[in-house]
Amino acid sequence: MQIVYRFEIRPTQEQEQKMFRTLRLCRHLYNRSLEERRATYKATGKSVTYSIQQNSLPAFKKENPEYRTVHSQVLQDVLRRVDRAYQNFFEGRAGYPRFRNRDNYRSFTYPQVDVVRETFQRDGCIYLSKIGFVKVIAHRLFEPERVFQINIIRKHNKWYANLTVELPDPGQTPGDLERGIGVDMGLLHFYALSDGTTVDTPRYLSKSEQKLAKLQRRLSRKKKGSKNRRKAKIKVAQCHEKIANQRKDFLHKKSYNLVTSNNVIVMEDLQIRNMAQNRHLAKSIHDASWSAFQKYVEYKCRKYGKQFVKVDPKDTSQTCTCGHPVAKDLSVRMHKCPRCGLEEDRDVVSAKLILERGLKKLTAA
Ligand SMILES: [Zn+2]
Repeated sequence: MQIVYRFEIRPTQEQEQKMFRTLRLCRHLYNRSLEERRATYKATGKSVTYSIQQNSLPAFKKENPEYRTVHSQVLQDVLRRVDRAYQNFFEGRAGYPRFRNRDNYRSFTYPQVDVVRETFQRDGCIYLSKIGFVKVIAHRLFEPERVFQINIIRKHNKWYANLTVELPDPGQTPGDLERGIGVDMGLLHFYALSDGTTVDTPRYLSKSEQKLAKLQRRLSRKKKGSKNRRKAKIKVAQCHEKIANQRKDFLHKKSYNLVTSNNVIVMEDLQIRNMAQNRHLAKSIHDASWSAFQKYVEYKCRKYGKQFVKVDPKDTSQTCTCGHPVAKDLSVRMHKCPRCGLEEDRDVVSAKLILERGLKKLTAA
């Protein structure tokens, strides 16, 4: 299984110049290859393939010595992008490939990082061939020896590295059902666990969201086409990015803790739930965070060899753990069962039912 980590990177001024140059050269090569395909097809009716273009790369580099400053695999990746653009067009997934300008050509890729040890020999840096050791702002742990692809992106005046990592397939491991946990993506809480733990969306996130709203109001007051509007736009984009990173960080930490401290994780099938749910409840931010959280939990389960189970959440908010139906509307925070006397946070009760369903599913299978 492959996953992608995105980290901000902080090149030195000199490295940054090289990265800008790489972007420019890659874009020119992209457009040139596109032009070659177009012109050849027009003149002869024949297609130029990826391998033809790849074979002519060495000669091209001889004529254009500046291209020696870019790693050859990075250049090959450019040709592959052109090829993919054509494939997408032929298979109806995209329009006819277009020339790219500075604004829509923003990344370059090292498709096979094979000199792994060399790549990460310096702490806190990634090695980009022809550019150097670039400082990485690593906000979480990752295994450098598993990185096999690096994609460098220029976005909102910053640089990022997407590191594609190959994870081992853990295969089937015996699930110790005693360490199973149910997760309810809650109404009161971001989520609640069957062991009684509840986790709320952190305050710093709501604060950042308020700040974003303020910046957006400010932007809307700026005159179109003005310098100030451009500046305000960048600020909004940066704030967006910050929130996205904060949220990701929160979701990663929580999912990591959840997965490493349990053997079986049972969650609601969000697709089923979304269909059933009241429309105005479905706040888009929440929905997005929930599904991202579930995705993180799911892949961490695979990574650490844990069992991940999805269950139908139907009626989990309207039933007691004893099986007695306990109707609650949205304003009711505490679950109180008239039959068995259970009194608990409503989301925790739902989480308990979710766990129960998951374990039933596992033992039945
Ligand atoms: Zn009960």
